[in-house]
Amino acid sequence: IRVRPLTCTETRRGDRQVVHSLGDGTVHVSAARHDATFGFSAVFDAGASQEAVFEGSGMRQLVELAIDGFSCTVFAFGQTGSGKTYTLMGPLAQSETRAAAPGLLGLMQRSFACLLEQSRSRSSDLALSASYLEIYNEQVRDLLSPGPPCALPLRWSKTRGFYVENQLSVDFESLEAIADLLLQGSQRRRTSAHALNRHSSRSHALLTIHVRSRAAGQSINPPPPTWVPQPSACPSKQGTLCFVDLAGSERVKETGSSGELSVEANNINRSLLALGHCISLLAKPRGKRTHIPYRDSKLTRLLARSLGGSGITLMVACISPSSRCLSETLSTLHYASRARRVTTRP
Ligand code: ADP
Ligand code: MG
Repeated sequence: IRVRPLTCTETRRGDRQVVHSLGDGTVHVSAARHDATFGFSAVFDAGASQEAVFEGSGMRQLVELAIDGFSCTVFAFGQTGSGKTYTLMGPLAQSETRAAAPGLLGLMQRSFACLLEQSRSRSSDLALSASYLEIYNEQVRDLLSPGPPCALPLRWSKTRGFYVENQLSVDFESLEAIADLLLQGSQRRRTSAHALNRHSSRSHALLTIHVRSRAAGQSINPPPPTWVPQPSACPSKQGTLCFVDLAGSERVKETGSSGELSVEANNINRSLLALGHCISLLAKPRGKRTHIPYRDSKLTRLLARSLGGSGITLMVACISPSSRCLSETLSTLHYASRARRVTTRP
């Protein structure tokens, strides 16, 4: 759980702080008719730095697991304006002219640095590539391919599960190159201004890093003709590290959205509802589980493996401490508590 500080606007209009971190992974919500304590693996309060979130959330381990060949996913979810994009990317996405101070970089840039550092220090040789998609109004679009955004088909196959056809994947070898891809892609992402957030993301964005590693000693050159594969030889591995910045849940009444904006909001809310539904069903004990409706939205199809399959997933629930956001905050905390009960089989 990450609790952001009260914003200037919230402080100015005299909002009260109703969320308090009690230490030991517990967070307390106290308001007139609500008094509840929730427990999580980690809680970061308003004073927590971006670095503390990276180190304390298990993100570093997730990067290492991706190098070891696992499918790893990190999600940020929560009400619009609660700090999801800030947690993942830092304030960088908000200002295109000025680069963010290094201390403010988010989980993504820190993970990229960690990944490239590891790839240099390990004896294996890593091949890295990235793809970047958004789901906008139930359409999947490529954020890296040039030209106006066009919808890509989402397909299913027995071997691959759900996948996006014709998705661009770009190789990279340096921190500058991947930071550049992130910036290019985020600038093409659909955002609109509304009453709660001047740069509200109107789409769900998924950046996936593909990590292919080959153990030391396994040459890229073809083996000699007499070469026989040794069972003890370390096989090559393919892992992924996926960052999901969900569009925020919102109540149309509060954001003052109308027309096109409210169509967007309904699509966002519908896919978040589908995600919530899948998570509730996945949280039931395996024996009592019914069919999981991944097909209900593009978002849940793309996340099927991360949610209940063979992936390892970190969910960061972002909340505002303000008294005005109380009901959204409680619903995010309930959602997160359910998500915590889901187990996958990596
Ligand atoms: P979301 O992506 O959830 O809609 P944002 O990440 O855009 O929300 O955050 C909304 C505003 O709050 C931004 O101006 C952002 O800079 C600020 N903010 C969010 N989290 C923090 C934080 N932990 N510390 C300081 N400012 C924050
Ligand atoms: Mg955002």
